[in-house]
Amino acid sequence: MKRTKIVVTLGPASSSTEVIEGMVAAGADVCRINFSHGSHNNVLEQIKNIRAVNKKLDAHTAILADLQGPKLRIGLVENNGVELVAGKEMIITTKECLGTAERIYITYPQFPKDVKAGENILIDDGKLLLKVISTNGIDEVKAVVSHGGVLSSKKGVNLPNTKISLPCLTEKDIKDLEFALDQNADWIGLSFVRSAADIIELKHLIQNINPNSKAKVIAKIEKPEAILDIDNIIKETDAIMVARGDLGVEIPMQEVPVTQKMLVRKCLEQSKPVIIATQMMESMITNISPTRAEVNDVANSVMDGADAVMLSAETSVGHHPAKVVEAMTKIIEHIEEESTIYNRDNAAPELNLHNDRFISDSICYTAAKMAQRTKAAAIITMTHSGYTAFKLSSHRPKAHIYVFTDNYRILTTLNLVWGVKGFYYDKSISTDHTIADIKFILKKNGYVVPNDLIINIASVPLSDKGKSNMVKLSAVE
Ligand code: PEP
Repeated sequence: MKRTKIVVTLGPASSSTEVIEGMVAAGADVCRINFSHGSHNNVLEQIKNIRAVNKKLDAHTAILADLQGPKLRIGLVENNGVELVAGKEMIITTKECLGTAERIYITYPQFPKDVKAGENILIDDGKLLLKVISTNGIDEVKAVVSHGGVLSSKKGVNLPNTKISLPCLTEKDIKDLEFALDQNADWIGLSFVRSAADIIELKHLIQNINPNSKAKVIAKIEKPEAILDIDNIIKETDAIMVARGDLGVEIPMQEVPVTQKMLVRKCLEQSKPVIIATQMMESMITNISPTRAEVNDVANSVMDGADAVMLSAETSVGHHPAKVVEAMTKIIEHIEEESTIYNRDNAAPELNLHNDRFISDSICYTAAKMAQRTKAAAIITMTHSGYTAFKLSSHRPKAHIYVFTDNYRILTTLNLVWGVKGFYYDKSISTDHTIADIKFILKKNGYVVPNDLIINIASVPLSDKGKSNMVKLSAVE
């Protein structure tokens, strides 16, 4: 059973129950629905299909609703392609028009106010580069083409040097968020996060839309400003995504690998899941096997300690979505057998009885250390909120983490988290009875075998569903 999770992006190639089933059977743990594309009707169909597959396979595939955020784009251009020639000047306007090589429309009304002479304008993932000459501060910016090429309609724009004054959630994002919460999406991804304030705003909005919502938030890290505020962002968010596609355009590409490692390390220290995204198996959009460099990229992300690796176009529009997941699973399984990703030396929780998580954090820390020393086969936690699962996972124990819960919602949420396997369990007779019963269930289903040592974490008394305060080591008979 692999520990590192796989996020697959759904799209035209992968929205049917058959394809989703193939991907889940091959190792997909989370389905990402990209709200940049597709209508709510399409999304409804995708969600229905994910849940049908979960029912059929008794799986807990999570749903990640990925909001587009303030993505900047140019408008339509003549014949869906105009040639921008290096050295030529052109106008970028906020008044809608059909673009030519001399004048193009940008979907960002404040652009002439926000931008300054000398700043870079990158279009189409940085394939085209323009430099601002001047702005009239109202509706037009004059720029010179530094690196030309063919520009087609609706390409994305990155402004790495510009302080963008757009709100973090557009009107479209708010409608998409309402829809995603109505559908009980497990995770909400927010694109182009700039500071922790964006995450705080999203969390307030979620609570305003549905005060009972249990949806968790993923901050997509793809702006240089986000890197500057990363400690606060990690503190406020529930997880992050290293969105290397836009990140590699917004910061110099050669800085991405070190940034990826820094983000993974900081997330592990704070027990927040981290996803590595974009172009991991890009060549498999068409090919039947990945390049050697792609194999290395996935392997290195696993060795860095990521919770999950993500597939984008490979599964959304690729030729063989299930095969890509299968290949990724093979890489992960092999690296997890060989490597030294286990037993992170996380700092012990600081002795502070005023911290209401001190006891459960200490229990998780001790359970992870005990599992390392005794070579336990499993750490089993009973949880209602899922808190101990996040905490245990960040210690990266070699023991499997089995989570038993009566809270169906967290089973899917936790499917993103490294090493965690969830089970639904709603009996609550006594702690002794539950521990014995769970041991029996795990043994019956082959998750543990006689003479395995197992570690149970629980909150005693069980009926209170309180915070974990007990750890027990025992052998399977
Ligand atoms: C990325 O930029 O790497 C990314 C994941 O973003 P998008 O939602 O545009 O795929």
